[in-house]
Amino acid sequence: MQLEKYSFGIGDRFAHQGKAQLAAMIQAKQAGVDIVPVWNKSHREHSIIHTQPASVRQEADAAVKTLAWQGSYHVDADHINMSNVDLFIEASDFFTLDVADFIGQKAADTDIEMFVENNRKYIGFQQIEGLDEPIEITGELIRKTASKVLQAVKQAGRLYRHIESKKGRGNFITEVSMDETDQAQTPAEMLFILAAISAEGIPAQTIAPKFTGRFNKGVDYVGDIDLFEKEFNQDLAVIQFAIREFDLPENLKLSIHSGSDKFSIYNPVNKAIRKFNAGLHVKTAGTTWLEEIIGLAVADGQGLQIAKKIYAEAFRRFDELCGPYAAVIDINKTELPAVEEVDAWTSRQFKDAVTHDPDCSHYNLNMRQLLHVGYKIAVELGDNYIEALEQYEDVIAEHVTYNIFDRHIKPIFIGT
Ligand SMILES: [Zn+2]
Repeated sequence: MQLEKYSFGIGDRFAHQGKAQLAAMIQAKQAGVDIVPVWNKSHREHSIIHTQPASVRQEADAAVKTLAWQGSYHVDADHINMSNVDLFIEASDFFTLDVADFIGQKAADTDIEMFVENNRKYIGFQQIEGLDEPIEITGELIRKTASKVLQAVKQAGRLYRHIESKKGRGNFITEVSMDETDQAQTPAEMLFILAAISAEGIPAQTIAPKFTGRFNKGVDYVGDIDLFEKEFNQDLAVIQFAIREFDLPENLKLSIHSGSDKFSIYNPVNKAIRKFNAGLHVKTAGTTWLEEIIGLAVADGQGLQIAKKIYAEAFRRFDELCGPYAAVIDINKTELPAVEEVDAWTSRQFKDAVTHDPDCSHYNLNMRQLLHVGYKIAVELGDNYIEALEQYEDVIAEHVTYNIFDRHIKPIFIGT
């Protein structure tokens, strides 16, 4: 099973925006760009929402059928590990092996030394096609990288072989993710991560490194954009080199996690994938949940009331909600509007505060991030929340599709 050149990770907490999201892929197709939708939902989301992986497959199948989508599509078991992979085997055909917890755990010294030995020929200034300057590689760099990631890649290998034993070779797509960790991986480290992935026999089609800078959930990129651009280009060159050098799948490509709303890096990303004629996978699921909240607020009436209720409760339960996402959010608590203040807001005020428009002076990225991790509150509202999604389906769908196509797909894949 081969993942196409461009793919886009969608998915929504409450399985109600399947059609609205797929509609964005249809718009892309009409604009001349083929993008494969990949519905993803992590174990973390499933456990907070109390859903089963089969529900994601059902949502995807239903949307595809209703909109008569002719292209391929996949269901991604996002950020899984050995303790939960079995829940996803049947419903998924895409597996994101999350080994971040093992990064920094040291492999046996003999394994590390053997890895250094096997890669000794790369020591020196490595000329890589597509790079302006060679990458400097030292024995120490290889050893340090191995100490940091070899154990994690070995764990990914165990996980991969477990899935392969259940689904059969070639019947699923494999991604290796290392994004939810503290330290970014440099392009030189990426080279040896890919060497280790190859040595472990994992046919990875996508790799999600931690890029330089902050990829906080649902808000713009924070960091040095020039450095990001340089490293992103280097990563693409390293991947093309590694495909040949380590005999990795031809279609191996980068995967950007927490890729939604990173408006300031979309232009550099677009330029780079064009320059290298490279594929790309971008995961964005969380932004759709925020569009639901915005859609509800715009709908006014009951919709706005529910949006306010979710904010009020999220504000009160800040620590509980933010805990599981500590690595991927940055909220300045003192910048959060008081619950009483928000209660008095109009539909327009709520929309302006949460809509990700950096040029709008009312936009509040702290409130937006809190709502991003606040979906547990909507779960607790149960039928009330679901009924509101159904009642206001049209206005919400419009926001969801616009957000994915106009604000994400266009700048990333089309370049406008
Ligand atoms: Zn991730």
